[in-house]
Amino acid sequence: MDWSFPPHHTGRCIVSPSSFLYAVLALLFLASCGKEKQEVVSTPTSYDASIPTEAEQEAFWTELVKPIVIDELAASQYHIPEIRDRYAFLSTITNAHHRLQICAVFAFHPKSRDIIAGNRMSSDAAILEVYVPKLMKLWDGLRLAGETRWREQFELTVVVSVMHELDHLVDPQTGLYDDGSLETLVAKEKSAWAKTCEFTIAPLVEIYHLPLSPIIRFYYEGWVNTGRDEESKAWHEFIRKSHAPLREK
Ligand SMILES: [Zn+2]
Repeated sequence: MDWSFPPHHTGRCIVSPSSFLYAVLALLFLASCGKEKQEVVSTPTSYDASIPTEAEQEAFWTELVKPIVIDELAASQYHIPEIRDRYAFLSTITNAHHRLQICAVFAFHPKSRDIIAGNRMSSDAAILEVYVPKLMKLWDGLRLAGETRWREQFELTVVVSVMHELDHLVDPQTGLYDDGSLETLVAKEKSAWAKTCEFTIAPLVEIYHLPLSPIIRFYYEGWVNTGRDEESKAWHEFIRKSHAPLREK
């Protein structure tokens, strides 16, 4: 396991669009402060501003996302055994071919502000990207929706999003040449979401009865309602409809 910004990281998590500010920069800053860093960052309560500042994003990542993604999932410490095992399985396959890096991105995805995470390959690494501003919006949205277990909804959305990108990284469909068409996107997504629904979301719901956020519930119910069959026409249509907006721009 190699995530993108250990304290002595020197910039492996580099992004091609120069407008992106990556966590590596913030972490390099933190690393430069070393153990002298005394600043206490209070738990964020609201991220309603349309574009959070870099400092807000950094605080949010450090306090509310990194503990889940890096300190628990990637450290094989996640408290739900099925998720811990699934992460180990997927990350081992990924690392067998490409060094896995997890990057916090301090910018929205350029194609859609609704994208929580993504993946891409560099010459020597499989890169899993987490879009921090989107997670901040999600945090606010779930909090304001007022469900009592909204913090669990948030955590599980982060977990499912990371696992979904790992499903992509090990999926043969990921190697499909992306010609920009909706059908290519559907081929990739229906394959990856089938695995995410069956091996990550289903245990959360069916064994532990945990609360899902609306977006994760949407995929899980789509999977169940179409018969849990990756090759079915109904699942294909479900994924095509849900992903069409991404290719209509
Ligand atoms: Zn996907």
